[in-house]
Amino acid sequence: MSIATETDFEVIVIGAGVAGIYQIKRLTDLGIKATVLEGYGDLGGTWYNNRYPGARFDSESYTYGYSFSKEVLEEWHWKETFSPQSENLRYLNFVADKFDLRKYMQFNCRVEAAHFDEDTNQWRLKINDGRELSCRFLVLAIGLLSTPTLPRYDGMDSFKGQSFHTFHWPHEGVDLAGKKVGVIGTGATAIQLIAEIADKVGELHVFQRRPNWSAPLNNSPISEEKMTDIRSRYDEIFEICDRTPGSFVHEPDRRPFFELSREERVALWDKLYDEPGFGIWLANFREIFTDEKANAEISDYIADRIRRRVKDPVTAEKLIPKDHGFGIQRLPLETNYFEAYNRDNVHLVDISETPIERVTETGLETTKESYDFDIIVYSTGFDAITGAYDHIDIQGVGGEKLRDKWEDGPSTFLGVLVHGFPNLLMPTGPQSGSASTNYPRGIENGVNWCMDLLDYIWEHGYNRAEATIEAEEKWTAEVTKMYSIMLLRKAKSWFTGYNSNVAGHEEGKVRYFVYNGGTPKYVASIKAVAGNDYEGIEFEGGDHTSSKAQKSVSVS
Ligand code: NAP
Repeated sequence: MSIATETDFEVIVIGAGVAGIYQIKRLTDLGIKATVLEGYGDLGGTWYNNRYPGARFDSESYTYGYSFSKEVLEEWHWKETFSPQSENLRYLNFVADKFDLRKYMQFNCRVEAAHFDEDTNQWRLKINDGRELSCRFLVLAIGLLSTPTLPRYDGMDSFKGQSFHTFHWPHEGVDLAGKKVGVIGTGATAIQLIAEIADKVGELHVFQRRPNWSAPLNNSPISEEKMTDIRSRYDEIFEICDRTPGSFVHEPDRRPFFELSREERVALWDKLYDEPGFGIWLANFREIFTDEKANAEISDYIADRIRRRVKDPVTAEKLIPKDHGFGIQRLPLETNYFEAYNRDNVHLVDISETPIERVTETGLETTKESYDFDIIVYSTGFDAITGAYDHIDIQGVGGEKLRDKWEDGPSTFLGVLVHGFPNLLMPTGPQSGSASTNYPRGIENGVNWCMDLLDYIWEHGYNRAEATIEAEEKWTAEVTKMYSIMLLRKAKSWFTGYNSNVAGHEEGKVRYFVYNGGTPKYVASIKAVAGNDYEGIEFEGGDHTSSKAQKSVSVS
């Protein structure tokens, strides 16, 4: 009997977002019996959810799309340099339909538990519809920012108007015209939302606990002619993404910060501030991320740009972060965000001074005032990086729970494998190269590497693969060490595991969530492991009849 008939599937992929779509494409190209289980009603992940007004890329669109298919690159026309949510969802559907991938996907199918069966080396999954499914390899493509978190205010259920997290913005749309709206939070999401709705609502109150640094997106349409030019340069564009730390088209300015004059530094910043995308963050001098003095200087520069844009000096000062320097948290990009506060109908409420005490039937109350709203929007972020993992009861060897193992932060080998959890793959896991980079570029690297590993396993007829504890400890120590040179370790942000709404994450104890070495170094590391016969991974089996040919059972 071939292995393929012993399990329901050779591979089960959880999540039909950008990663899951590419993962199932690669698996089914090989004829592997595989399925994707997706908890929401359709494919798209981040872009299926997050339908709030203003949601869009801040990666250049043409660097965000998949690179694996020349046909897709030829056929798809990105309409804007930074494409909006509806278009991004249309793109992912276009790719899935082009390769007929939908037939491998099961929607509204939430995985509640995944337990490793040591006797058979299989994963056994419990689904919310009561089914149990088994597979040899489990691939978690469950996203880094896919578990939204709400505040824990008293009275949240009592509010009689509409209220929701931005991640769950109603799919049918929300009538904002003339409405009194309260937005809680001022992260990347809120910054997009506030700017977009300021002139559409009646009154808008923004409840800010800590301001974020932010800089202009400088978006523009992409004409047919420009798209033709982009298509002709795709190889070059992806080559640049491969060699830059963040996998963007923005290359750091390698001139030594302190050897330049102040005028030379400002000349670069003046140029970058008016250019599209993350240039002001990632094409900046490298020292701004590691040196307090360099960081203070760029922070002062950006603060002045904010002061120039906000008419009321008191409001301007409130919008300038004082607790962290520019760029050490993930930089939100904006279009007319600061100008929104020049409008008479937009009000900034500083809840670091007057905290929210409770939500009422008609709005909410701070320690100073009560506000009436038709709509309350919680733009309060995510249980980032490990949240989606914690929400599935994942148990490995000896019944060890992944959420217990990671209670104080993740530990992984390459961000892809975990000791004690054999045959479990995370193409974009915690501590992988994806989290701190242009996400789809990291996804393609991660999925390709996982496919090479699976191919190696199938070629050798192995039935079990597990990272050694030594390899995991070494990788986690490397990830940890990188934080020590980066100013980002000081930021209270999702990059370091801070979230005031998640038990145990409120204090800002640093969790080593992301690999900060940049794409070239990450890719070199994972390639070296593969090139060295997957040193750091222990394989078992090799004597059974499994082979790629026998696994090539297609699903009808
Ligand atoms: P976020 O950056 O974590 O921001 C959450 C905001 O909510 C913060 O201002 C936070 O204040 C506030 N908040 C949280 N809990 C609160 C509470 N109980 N009371 C009052 N305020 C509270 O989340 P996000 O804005 O959703 O962005 C998360 C990440 O998603 C971004 O960093 C980015 O990577 C990604 N994103 C990307 C795009 C894009 O590609 N264009 C767009 C949006 C988001 P404190 O700072 O005081 O905690």
